[in-house]
Amino acid sequence: MPELPEVEVTRRGLEAPLTGATIASLRMGKPLRWPLGIAPQMLQGAVIASVQRRAKYVVLQLGNDRGVLLLHLGMSGRLEWLMNPVAPGAHDHVDIITDRGLLRLHDPRRFGAVVWSASTAVPPASKLLGHLGVEPLTDAFTADGFWAALKAARAPIKPVLLAGHLVVGVGNIYACEALFEAGIRPTVRAERLSRPRVARLHAAIQRILTLAIAQGGSSLKDFAAVDGQAGGFQKIVQVYGRAGKPCRVCAEPIQVMRQAQRATYYCSRCQCF
Ligand SMILES: [Zn+2]
Repeated sequence: MPELPEVEVTRRGLEAPLTGATIASLRMGKPLRWPLGIAPQMLQGAVIASVQRRAKYVVLQLGNDRGVLLLHLGMSGRLEWLMNPVAPGAHDHVDIITDRGLLRLHDPRRFGAVVWSASTAVPPASKLLGHLGVEPLTDAFTADGFWAALKAARAPIKPVLLAGHLVVGVGNIYACEALFEAGIRPTVRAERLSRPRVARLHAAIQRILTLAIAQGGSSLKDFAAVDGQAGGFQKIVQVYGRAGKPCRVCAEPIQVMRQAQRATYYCSRCQCF
């Protein structure tokens, strides 16, 4: 499913074409995870003032107090930017038609959504964004703050990372890779990690996410950037999806186990803390 790097790659691809574009109309297809929350014709003429991101939401800020549009890719969604629009297919559920081109949500499983809100400070945006953890690639995410938050976690570190309550955007592939880089066993209790270990994990999370964005994200199933370009991070992973293959550091076979319904890949020799 698209995680923070994939959503950031999507946002960067939309920033230039959408900033300053005027919405001409919206076409809504089959119902998505949440309703739009406004009559589509009410958005006609709204100018997209900026294209931002919070966790896994792309946030289109509309000018002249016309509100915000939150775009979420769900399990299988991707956004496409089409200069020369073609007719929508069976899995194309939202078209935002602008004076510059068409923004299309393609989402076979329909867990994605496009949601309007009067601002990010009021529902539904405040409900969707309010409980989210800190952004990992900002100054708000500090090693000391992370360590203090983990002290109160009372669960193994891997599911704590995936939950997104402390820090957002560390999805399964990135949690596995960051724990490998930090040398931390995924089953170790979060509250038992020492301050130096947490500092290593903090650095690993930032480095892995930054690397993944630079690689255009991960295309595990069908993710692609808004121009159709697939991501490349899945080709340079150390542990994710490599069960039974030799560790690239110590040659020990990579292990796989289930944690909170998710596959965890790790090296039992390199990740011993
Ligand atoms: Zn190893």
